[in-house]
Amino acid sequence: MPATIGQLPSHLEKARSRVGVGFKKISNPVGTYGARTYQSLGYDNSLRLNDFKENCTLEILFCDDEEVLFDLVGTDAPIANALRRILLSEVPTLAIENVFVHRNTSIMHDEQLAHRLGLVPLKIDPRPFEYWEKGLPVTVANTVKLSLRTKCEFNPSAPRDGEAPPSVLYKNSSVLSGSIEHVPFGGHEQSKFIGNEVPRPVHEDILLCKLRPGQEIHVEMDATKNIGREHAKWSPVATAGYRMLPEVNLKTRVVGATAKRLVNLCPAKVFDIEDDVAVVARPRDCTVCRECIREPEWEERVELTRKRDHFIFSVESTGAMPAPTLVTEALSVLTGKCDLVLAALDAALKQRTTHDNGVDEENPDVEMDESEGS
Ligand code: SF4
Repeated sequence: MPATIGQLPSHLEKARSRVGVGFKKISNPVGTYGARTYQSLGYDNSLRLNDFKENCTLEILFCDDEEVLFDLVGTDAPIANALRRILLSEVPTLAIENVFVHRNTSIMHDEQLAHRLGLVPLKIDPRPFEYWEKGLPVTVANTVKLSLRTKCEFNPSAPRDGEAPPSVLYKNSSVLSGSIEHVPFGGHEQSKFIGNEVPRPVHEDILLCKLRPGQEIHVEMDATKNIGREHAKWSPVATAGYRMLPEVNLKTRVVGATAKRLVNLCPAKVFDIEDDVAVVARPRDCTVCRECIREPEWEERVELTRKRDHFIFSVESTGAMPAPTLVTEALSVLTGKCDLVLAALDAALKQRTTHDNGVDEENPDVEMDESEGS
């Protein structure tokens, strides 16, 4: 029977579009993505491109360089999750990859120091740079050179009573990320890649190591471009996550002392009282902690669900790039992946057509061997 677009009965529509949250169990946690799941009811559950284009929206709720909060509506969890995973592991940044230790007399081993240096987020726009990998020559197009040189000494002007903290008694007792300096190389060529901003750590106050008088660190470093899938140090986000929009409904009128009790049960202050009746005032603030349905009788009054196609996204940048730029970069990576799949499908379709026709489309004069393409 060919499927037609229709209306599902309300209980099935709810199962299709909502995840139910009970105190002891979650209902319908898995979405119904099969195109023919409801075919017998005359409902076409297939994804239609035009519907997707019309219904999929992205609304920005808050945005600054460090964080962006947005609502992604009208799509499925696999798409939202793809965006999240790309943000975590496929948007490139620059991070310290090679550390050349000239001198390290601190108590920290060279390897541990190199590891800590690698995790320092760098304020460098990665987009003009090329990827570098072992064996490739180091050029201005794929590397930014940095150095760190510091030595701890006694502070001659510190009080002699020995009570003062090390930061007063000694100079350079704490090695901070702010001591990392850019080392220009490649002359004018380099400005094509780094622009006008001098490469530097995002934060100046990350503690790398502690020194005591006489101890010294002198290292040179190469920062290269790569992605978080290779190592977490290249991940551009501190966090990237989403949650489905929570919905809180009152099934019955909750009044008087019971309404007051409900307001007090909720730690997120979702409920208010209006004219002695409980109302759901701030459903978005619900953390789905389920405190309001902990006692059995409350499940008869309060219904908790999550909307399956509405995602509240939060993206926090490490500072390497502004958070909104990360989202647009992640979306272009996702688009690139879609293009790749389309090209592969196209090629497979062409190959199939060629095989079915027994003709090589690129050389139509040449008849294909019967055994080819099997
Ligand atoms: S689930 Fe928790 S946060 Fe949500 S309404 Fe109930 S008590 Fe409040």
